[in-house]
Amino acid sequence: MALKVSREGSPYGTLFSTQALSVAVSQMKVKSSTCSKCSRVVVPPRDLCPYCGIAGSMEPTELSPRGEILSYTLLHMPPEGFEPPLMMALVRLEQDATVLCLLEEKTTFPDLKIGANVELSLDDAERLRFRPMK
Ligand SMILES: [Zn+2]
Repeated sequence: MALKVSREGSPYGTLFSTQALSVAVSQMKVKSSTCSKCSRVVVPPRDLCPYCGIAGSMEPTELSPRGEILSYTLLHMPPEGFEPPLMMALVRLEQDATVLCLLEEKTTFPDLKIGANVELSLDDAERLRFRPMK
């Protein structure tokens, strides 16, 4: 769904209000695929269902970026290219798909708890990032 931006009332053309930006963030979707045979959802999208092994059964779908923490850890020796410490979390999305994601950049380490509600976003490298929901 495209973000609609009103030009009305602005002498400068297209302007994004902070309200429009928050709508755009909340409209972020996680790309996935759903198996038409077993109905399981996988992220990222795949051509072959990893559960029932049937090729050609996967349909592209999009998921809400909201979910809950299943588990998390703090890596003091992360892979090359990441600054330590790196917080990672296993998140179960509302549609029952599970994804591994990194804490959003420039965020202070939250006091996480298993079951805490989080919202996902994509960083510049298109990696999934999470932040606690308020
Ligand atoms: Zn399947």
